[in-house]
Amino acid sequence: MASEKEAALAAAATPSDAPTIFDKIIKKEIPSTIVYEDDKVLAFRDINPQAPTHILIIPKVKDGLTGLSKAEERHCEILGYLLYTAKLVAKQEGLDDGFRIVINDGPKGCQSVYHIHVHLLGGRQMTWPAG
Ligand code: C5P
Repeated sequence: MASEKEAALAAAATPSDAPTIFDKIIKKEIPSTIVYEDDKVLAFRDINPQAPTHILIIPKVKDGLTGLSKAEERHCEILGYLLYTAKLVAKQEGLDDGFRIVINDGPKGCQSVYHIHVHLLGGRQMTWPAG
């Protein structure tokens, strides 16, 4: 499997607003382990977990929000809702002693899928600084 950095560089070479693998997950065309879903967002377990709990929270409608660097004022509501959902899912997963939220952006941020997503990581002691 390509490293995260290789995947990020490969993804950056493709049109950033093209459909991604997450569109197929939203449409249930490929399997995923969904832990939360409503009309606005979907949360599912990361296929390559970096912690005992590793969940991705994504908007069902991308609306040009390929990454945080593309955010415009109209996206404020969904951005807040993604974080609120992360808090709900953290509670649902029993992450009562803390957790980490990550949003990777662009090649140097190691983003590999250009459909904005919030990583929720927990279940182990995190360290700082992040790599
Ligand atoms: O922040 P980044 O773009 O690198 O995160 C994308 C994430 O999507 C990765 O953690 C990867 O493991 C995950 N992924 C997944 N299921 C897929 C494809 C990617 O959980 N089918």
